[in-house]
Amino acid sequence: MNFILRRLLSGGTAKHSARAPCLLYSSVAPDMRERTLIAVKPDGVQRRLVGEIIKRFEQRGFKLVGIKMLQGSEGILAEHYHDLRRKPFYPALIRYMTSGPVVAMVWEGHNVVRSSRFMVGETDSSLAKPGTVRGDFSVHISRNVIHASDSVEVAEREISLWFHSAELMNWETSDHSDLYQV
Ligand code: UDP
Ligand code: MG
Repeated sequence: MNFILRRLLSGGTAKHSARAPCLLYSSVAPDMRERTLIAVKPDGVQRRLVGEIIKRFEQRGFKLVGIKMLQGSEGILAEHYHDLRRKPFYPALIRYMTSGPVVAMVWEGHNVVRSSRFMVGETDSSLAKPGTVRGDFSVHISRNVIHASDSVEVAEREISLWFHSAELMNWETSDHSDLYQV
């Protein structure tokens, strides 16, 4: 029986039918191939938070498919933050992001874009909840430790900006059925 059929026939649906339609049961198989760009910013690298951040994504169940350390150029950062170019904080943002090495990563998994935004926390660190990266390791928006793509479309653009396709690995995890219904 395929995944979708099994979900439709599972006992829980009737119990929830009186409620407003909510997405307790997705009608589509999980897209386990979704990818996002995560970058540990220069302050995160300086503060030796790379391992801690990788640990969180690994433990959550996401799959690392690309990683590299690099000094971000003004060119790549201007493209990365193109939408923010008219903001008053933009020059300081570019100075910050080019002030030292960053660790850029691509993580893969079901809803990884949305989930990683929750793991990263609010842009303004003072609003970021404890348990999030920013809520645990940052006090100010100008030094907020980590970048995460904010939509699937943006993730695709950012991944191709920071990585060549040959730098990304396609590989299977051995614990796949512990993480996903197959
Ligand atoms: N930023 C800042 N001051 C602001 C807003 C943003 O320094 O008032 C910086 C901060 O490093 C943030 C980045 O600009 O992470 C990009 O802003 P965005 O709104 O895209 O936030 P994010 O997606 O990183 O949460
Ligand atoms: Mg953003």
